[in-house]
Parts: sequence; structure tokens; C-alpha cells
Amino acid sequence: MKNILLIATGGTIASRPTADGLLPQLLAGDILRCVPSLAGLCHVDALQLMNLDSTNITPDCWLAIARCIREHYDDYDGFVLTHGTDTMAYTAAALTYLVQSSAKPIVLTGAQKSIYSEDTDARRNLFDAFLAAQDDALFGVLLVFDGRVIAGTRARKTRTKSMNAFSSIDYPDVALLREGRILHYIREDKPSCAPVFYDRLNPRVFVLRLIPGMNPDVLGLLLSRYDALVIESFGVGGLPCYEQEDFLCAVRAWSDAGKPIVITTQVPHEGSDLYVYQVGARVAGTPGVLQAQTMTVEAVVAKLMWILPQTYDLSEIAALFEAPVAHDLLLFS
Ligand code: ASP
Repeated sequence: MKNILLIATGGTIASRPTADGLLPQLLAGDILRCVPSLAGLCHVDALQLMNLDSTNITPDCWLAIARCIREHYDDYDGFVLTHGTDTMAYTAAALTYLVQSSAKPIVLTGAQKSIYSEDTDARRNLFDAFLAAQDDALFGVLLVFDGRVIAGTRARKTRTKSMNAFSSIDYPDVALLREGRILHYIREDKPSCAPVFYDRLNPRVFVLRLIPGMNPDVLGLLLSRYDALVIESFGVGGLPCYEQEDFLCAVRAWSDAGKPIVITTQVPHEGSDLYVYQVGARVAGTPGVLQAQTMTVEAVVAKLMWILPQTYDLSEIAALFEAPVAHDLLLFS
């Protein structure tokens, strides 16, 4: 039997009703007791790292989770992380950058209903997460939800209430879980080297969603407070040039300050391509302007936070950003 460590961090799965609404209160042991069938699957140890609604998760929490995995890495065959669904995709992306080349599965899961609710999805998701965590063919950071195994860099919460809350964006599910069995859609060689752990993140990353008529002055206001900017632009990507107001000047100020701007799209699928339209091509050549291409916004944010402590050099930032990590960037050949 494999040894799996449960790291509990809160979320609806661990919530109880209070006068003010649901609040994570159940501990790792309470959660485990609700799924007695796990005893026949693997040996489980449990650790309560925090107990938060995932709205309150911060980059410091991601570092704490990565540190916890590092401290226990050699003692376990896999890890299950229970987590709120609201920011689970960000945590999955962040852990992918903080713990690289892991040959062991690091599986995030949660639920839309508390594990104490009668109609909960928590018991199934938890069992499935352990099934994935003890599987010989799976590795790296994965998200398990509603019978699906999703790569940590491709996940997004796409439904607020339904049980199928997560989607894999522009990438196939890694595997399917049905009645205690796994169907692998994607089989890859496990990393043969030792895992690489990182212990720094720079949280000074801002995401700006463009709306028609936005004043580019906002970029100047953000410049002193943030070290990287992600602009969710329209369609395949571009920045407006109104009569008196040109985003290009505001973008150059970031470039002159040695701070990167990543242009992505607010369209849910198929990514950006700044070179299609003049509104994109005219900004694409500015030093420090990068584009997300096929990366999700969650992955872009986490990747920038991971890159920024490593270098101030814009071309090195670009090289790191454009180097694919665990399917975050899908390249056409
Ligand atoms: N607000 C909750 C959380 O993210 C939602 C959930 O877990 O489903 O912690």
C-alpha cells in the first residue's frame, strides 16, 4: 500500500454552516473519517496546514504548502491537498512552478458542498484524489474534481455551483476516474531527476481587465505599486489607441522601468496572438511586452510571481516566461 499525505487547507469541503454563512471548521481527521473506504486504498497521514476559505489564500500560503511538501517529500508516495475551489486553479498553477519535476503526484481537490452535507460531492472527490495520488502513472501537480484529472497549469473554475466546477482549458483531461478506476488519456514519462523546489514568489503582480474606453493613465497609477502587469485584452490581443490617449506610451513607461507586461485575452479559449491586428503588433515589439499565447491567466499570474524573484533582466524574464513548464504553454509546431 502506498503512503499518502493529506494536507488540509480548508474550503467548502471542510465547512460548516454558521450564522454568517459557510466557514471552514472541519479538520483533516474529520474529513478523513467521512471516507472510510480510503483505508482499503492506501495508508494516509494527515496534516492541517491552515483552515481557510480559499478566498483568503495568498502567495505566502502557496509557499507554506510547497515548504510542507518539500519537508515530507521523501516520506510519502503522493500528496493530496484539500482546498477551496474558488482559488484552487491559482494554487495548482503556483505549486506547479514551486515544485517542479516531481515524479510523485501532488493532487488538489475540494468540493462544491461540505463533506457533512448529504448531497455532497466531497466524498467522491476525496476518494478520487487519493486514487490519483497513489497511481503509478500520474505525477506532478494535478487537480481532481468530478471524475476528472486536470493538469495543474490548465485548470480553471468555470462553474460556481455545479459539481463539474472545473475545466481543463484548451488541453485534454489527463485522466478520467470512474468507480474506483482510472482511465489514462495521457501517459507521459515521469521525471527521472530529483524534484526542484523554489521558495520565493513576488506577489506584486496585477491583472487589469480592459474595457472599451479605458483611460491608459491607469497603467501609470499601477506602475509604482506593482512589478508586473497582466492585461486581459480583447480577442487575440491588442491595446487601444484613442485620439489623445495611446496605451503604447503607458506601456513604454513600464518597459523603461524594467517591468514586464503580459498581454492575454479575456476570451476563455484559444489564447492570444498579438501579431494578427495592428492594435496588437504595434505593442508587441516593446521590450518587456510578452504575450500569454496559450497560457491561462492563473498560470500567467503564478509564473510571473515565480520568475520575478529570479531576475530583473527583461530578456531573462522573457526567456523564463516563454519556456514551457508542465504544459502551461502549448506551442504549435
Ligand atoms: N469559498 C469556498 C472556497 O473557495 C468555495 C469552495 O470551496 O467551493 O474556499
